[in-house]
Amino acid sequence: MTVARPTIRPDLIELSGYHSPQVAVAVRLNTNESPYPPPPAWQAALAEQVAAIEFNRYPDRTALVLRTALADLHGVGPDQVLVGKGSNEVLAAVCMTFGGQGRTAAVFEPTYALHSHIPNITGTAVAVGERAADLNLDPAEVRRVLSESDPAITFLCSPNNPTGLVDPPDIVEEVIAAAPGVVVVDEAYAQFAPWSALSLPRDGRPLVVTRTFSKTWAMAACRLGYLIAPPDVVAAIEKVLLPYHLDAVTQAAGVLALDFADDMEVRVSAIVAERERLIANLVGLDVDWWPSQANFVLFRPRSLGGQALWERLLKRSVLVRDFSSRPRLRDCLRVTVGTPAENDAFLLALKESLTE
Ligand SMILES: *Cc1c(COP(=O)(O)O)cnc(C)c1O
Repeated sequence: MTVARPTIRPDLIELSGYHSPQVAVAVRLNTNESPYPPPPAWQAALAEQVAAIEFNRYPDRTALVLRTALADLHGVGPDQVLVGKGSNEVLAAVCMTFGGQGRTAAVFEPTYALHSHIPNITGTAVAVGERAADLNLDPAEVRRVLSESDPAITFLCSPNNPTGLVDPPDIVEEVIAAAPGVVVVDEAYAQFAPWSALSLPRDGRPLVVTRTFSKTWAMAACRLGYLIAPPDVVAAIEKVLLPYHLDAVTQAAGVLALDFADDMEVRVSAIVAERERLIANLVGLDVDWWPSQANFVLFRPRSLGGQALWERLLKRSVLVRDFSSRPRLRDCLRVTVGTPAENDAFLLALKESLTE
């Protein structure tokens, strides 16, 4: 007897998942994590709080303590904050709320792959706009995409992953003014950048700014992200979140992290200084690179294929992110800024690989 196999949604058949190989190497510079752990005092305080959690009980469904702490950090009300398991869950909730069948999300490539992938898995069409040759936003192209595809969601990413480029305030203002739906500015790397969309006048405009604890807060293992938006937008998105989606341990970890914001700022400054040193060392090598305002640098070898360089680096136990086969990023690789020792190891491996 043959048993009928369950059939998946037709629109998922051609879709591939998220790919970032997790390879065991000495120097791992491929996922933009913090090279430094959070402070030991944070870890000790968290251990104490975890010991006091009533594990037989559900966590606070509204995560009110965490949302209030984040609201205080940004000078907004707790009803303007929504938390989730990483900013990816937050982005998915935005797509489930404002996207879906018959609706469109706009992205400007090259950008963060999840800004197309999450619309795809939520049945939202994706309108793809092109960035200019220098990989900055092109205002005319932005206007074209917004008027032609009437997107329910428009994604910006500043600093943009994987380019490291920041969208200037006047252009973000223009997008917010022209977009027919919500505008999401993904600010996963905001603390590395000179300005944030949170500084723009909001007046209830449907601007959604997303943040994560995975990078600057050095807590990628925790899965914690959030967004800041007008109260009605937050209330709408709350409807699609599963009950008790954010566990008690993660809530406690987030609240405690904010007590160590000074340590975070020190880490960010150290990483920015290392980023500048790394870039200074790329000058004079046989590579092109983009000026970055984040904790990573996009670069492209001039006389060698990107994938060949990626393999030569891997042979030297240095893992970077390979974008070489992505449209618009031909031969490009992205290196995360690590500790000084990791960056030295990367630079040495790069010099050897380019002249091998
Ligand atoms: C790393 C990153 C995130 C983080 O996602 P989490 O789910 O919070 O770990 C979000 N957006 C961008 C652009 C990123 O690069």
